[in-house]
Amino acid sequence: MYDVAIIGGGPAGASAAIYTAKSGKKTIVIDNDQSVTKRAWIENHYGVEGIAGPELVAIGKKQAAKFGAEFVTAKATKLTAGDGFITVETDGETYEAGHVIIATGMFLDIAETSGVRTKPGTEPRIKTIVDCTPEGKTSLDNVWVAGTAAGVSMHTIITAGDGAKVAINVISEINGERYVDHDVLKV
Ligand SMILES: Cc1cc2nc3c(=O)[nH]c(=O)nc-3n(C[C@H](O)[C@H](O)[C@H](O)COP(=O)(O)OP(=O)(O)OC[C@H]3O[C@@H](n4cnc5c(N)ncnc54)[C@H](O)[C@@H]3O)c2cc1C
Repeated sequence: MYDVAIIGGGPAGASAAIYTAKSGKKTIVIDNDQSVTKRAWIENHYGVEGIAGPELVAIGKKQAAKFGAEFVTAKATKLTAGDGFITVETDGETYEAGHVIIATGMFLDIAETSGVRTKPGTEPRIKTIVDCTPEGKTSLDNVWVAGTAAGVSMHTIITAGDGAKVAINVISEINGERYVDHDVLKV
């Protein structure tokens, strides 16, 4: 049983995984390696002068793995609510988690097959998004959404930031108090 299962390992999903894993939550990321970010050359990400999309995605996954996030290469096909947990089906295995974050970018099949409420998108080229609260909660208990799938502006700093935001909300809900992750420079 995982504390958090994240569907999608692009900027939104891997960023969420950095936070949940670093906070000590047992985290699994299920990703089928179809990130649109791998087609990008990025020069507008704060603090990064220029980076190829595949490199950004690879570094994000490596950072999350460093804190203990497990990565599985598979397509997640369905979420089913259980008694206090969510079952995630993939094309081969099933996983149980207390919380699930959908971070599937432009691909919403997992939300649609799982009965998670969607609505029309407002960003360019984004037809449908998952309906969510400002915190990232969806219509299914303990299922959250982040990044492009949540309808935020489709830029890496924003989708990664949204993944971090939603992860902090999930961690805070599990802990029962607001969570902050600050490391202090040693001088
Ligand atoms: C050509 C191009 C150029 C771009 N240039 C820039 C730029 O210069 N600057 C900028 O800021 N942004 C740029 N972007 C946008 C940027 O890539 C996106 O805004 C952002 O990275 C999307 O992040 P995401 O995590 O929401 O989605 P994605 O990066 O698409 O990640 C979603 C992940 O979910 C996985 N997934 C989906 N469904 C499932 C499933 N059912 N099971 C398992 N895994 C699943 C996918 O495989 C993928 O890895 C560009 C995009 C493109 C296409």
